[in-house]
Amino acid sequence: MALIPRPKQMELFPAETPARGYTATNAGPWAERRLSPRSLGPLAVNARQADGLFYAVLSASASAHLPELPAALCGAGREDGYFLEARADGVCILSRHPRGVVYGLHAYEELLAENGSFCGTVIDFSDASFRAFHMDMRYGFPRTERLLEILEELSAARFSTFLLEYENRFPFTRHADVSDPAHYSPEDLRRIQEKAAELYIEIIPLQQTIGHLEYLLKLPAYYPLREMREFPSTPAPYGFSPTGWKHFNDIDEICASREEAYAVVESLLDDVMAAHPASRYVHLGCDEAWNLLSCPECRARFGEDGRHRLYISHINRMAARVLAAGKIPIVWDDMLRGFSDEELAQIDRRVVIMIWLYYESNYALAKRLARRFRAAGFTVLGAAAAKCGEGPEPQYLDMPWYELRLGNVDMWGRLCGEEGLDGFCMTVWSNYSGTIAPPHPFFDTVWYPVLFAAEKLWNRDAVREGFDSRFSSAFFGVEQEDLFHGGSAQRYERIVRVCRGAARHRYEAEVLRVMELLSAYRLKSQAVGRELYKLSMDVTEAEKRIVRNRMAEVAALREELKPQVRRIVETHYTKADAEVFVRSRFEADEALFRLYAASGGRGEEMPADGRPGGF
Ligand SMILES: [Zn+2]
Repeated sequence: MALIPRPKQMELFPAETPARGYTATNAGPWAERRLSPRSLGPLAVNARQADGLFYAVLSASASAHLPELPAALCGAGREDGYFLEARADGVCILSRHPRGVVYGLHAYEELLAENGSFCGTVIDFSDASFRAFHMDMRYGFPRTERLLEILEELSAARFSTFLLEYENRFPFTRHADVSDPAHYSPEDLRRIQEKAAELYIEIIPLQQTIGHLEYLLKLPAYYPLREMREFPSTPAPYGFSPTGWKHFNDIDEICASREEAYAVVESLLDDVMAAHPASRYVHLGCDEAWNLLSCPECRARFGEDGRHRLYISHINRMAARVLAAGKIPIVWDDMLRGFSDEELAQIDRRVVIMIWLYYESNYALAKRLARRFRAAGFTVLGAAAAKCGEGPEPQYLDMPWYELRLGNVDMWGRLCGEEGLDGFCMTVWSNYSGTIAPPHPFFDTVWYPVLFAAEKLWNRDAVREGFDSRFSSAFFGVEQEDLFHGGSAQRYERIVRVCRGAARHRYEAEVLRVMELLSAYRLKSQAVGRELYKLSMDVTEAEKRIVRNRMAEVAALREELKPQVRRIVETHYTKADAEVFVRSRFEADEALFRLYAASGGRGEEMPADGRPGGF
C-alpha cells in the first residue's frame, strides 16, 4: 500500500461502500465540502450518541448509528487519531479532534484513488503531536492560491503546524517601506489563515528580531541601525569557508544598544502578532547572530565578554513582549549552545527552544542539547531540513541532497522517540542567508524528503529503504523503483517516465525533471569552464575546436533549459522571482562563454541534429 503516512492498523472487507448517501459532519466547512458531492441530503446524528466526538458520516439510510471509538484512540496523545469504518451501508469517520476527521477523509479518498473502492476499517494515530512544516520567503513569493494548495498538501501529509516566515513579504503598517513591492495583502493573510483553520493546521509566524534582518538593514533608511560598523573581514591570510567568514555581510544584526533599532523591530513583531490572532506561538528566530557585540556601544554596555549577557537581555525583552500579547515565544537554539547553566537560568522558562540540526551525524549533539535545555526547564522541539546549504557542490545547487535529507529526518525521528520530544519541524530554506543570497534548489524539489518527514513523524519506526518507490506511487500515482537513486542519466530517465504517467502532481514531476536536467547542466558547465583558458592561449586549432564543441553543447542545453526553468518558476511565483532564478543559474556562465568565444575566434557550428550530448 502506497499511503503516506502508512496507517497503523487496517482491515479489509469484501464488499463495496455506497458511492452516495445521507451525510453529516461536525468537523467544519472543509469536511462539509468534501462530503457534499456524495450527499443525498442531511443525516441526523444523535448528539448524545456522538458524545463529544467529531465525525463525518455517509449513510445509505436516513438514520445512522455511530460506532464506538476504538480503545487505541482513547489514550493521551491520540487526540487527532481517527477511526474509519467503511461498510456496505455507509462510511463513518470518528475522532476526538476535528483534525482527525480531516485526516480520515484524506485517508478514505486516498484509498479510493489507489484501489477504486474501499470497504474495511482503519485505526490510525500519530507518534508525534508536533508535526511542523516550515517555509520562508527570503527567495520567492508564492501566490496566495499556491500557498492554499500547499496547505492542502500539508494536511494530506498530516502536518499539524505551519511555521511561516514571511520576511519582507508581509504588509507591515508603521514601517510599510520595509515590505517588498510584492507582498501579501491583509486579505491574503486572512484567506491563508482561514484555510489553515479549516484544516486545523496551526500557523506559527516567524519574525526575526536580532539577526537575519538583511531585508531591513539593506535599505538605506535602516542601514544605520546595524551592529557591524565595519565590513566583516576574513582573518588573514584567508578563510576556508567557501561562502565567507562568519556572516560575510554587515547587514545581518541590529545593534542591541539602540532603542531606534528596537522601535523598528518591535513594530514589525507587533504587526505580525496582530495579524495572527489565532496563533498560540510566535517564533522569534534569533539564530546565527554571529556579529553581536561588534559595536563600541554594545561592548561598553555589556562588557568586552558580554555576548551572552546581550543575548539574554534580547531574548527576555522579546519574550516579554510576546507573552504580554498572550502568545508563547519560540527561538532557535544555536546561539544558546555555549551558554553555561547559570546563563540558561537567566532566560525566561516560558521560551520554547527549537534545536535545528540538519545532518544525521548531529545525533549525539542533538541528544546532548535536548537533555541540557530540558534539564534547564525549557520545552524543546527539533528541526530537520528538506533542503539547506549543502555547500557549493554543483549537483546540489539545483536538487536537494536527498540521502542527507532522509538521514536527517531519521535522526530526528529516532531522537524524538528516545527523548520523548513532541516532534520536529521540517524546514525548507529558500536560500542561504536572508533576502540577499541566491536561491537554493527550487521549492517543489522538496516533496520527497518532506513526505518522508511526514511519515517519520506519524510512524516513528518508518524506514527510508524503498521510500522513494512508495513516494512515486503515493505522490504521482506511478510505480517507479529507485526514483532518486543511481546516476543522473538514470534518474532523469525515470523522472521522464513519471512525468508521462503521473496521475497527480504533474507540475511537481515536471519540476523534478527540469531541475534534474539543470543539475546536469551545472556539472557540464563547470567542467567546460575549466578548459576555456585554451581559447586565449596559443594551442592548436584542433584543441580549440574540442573546447568550442563542448561549449556549443553546453550552450545548447542552456538555451533549451532557460525557458523551461522560467516557465516553472512563473507558474506559481512572480515574474521578478523567475528573473532572479534564471539569472542566478545562467547569467555568469553565459558571460564567461561570451568572453572566451570572443577571445577564441569563431565558435564551432552546432552538431547537425542540434541536440545536446549525453551527461
Ligand atoms: Zn551595538
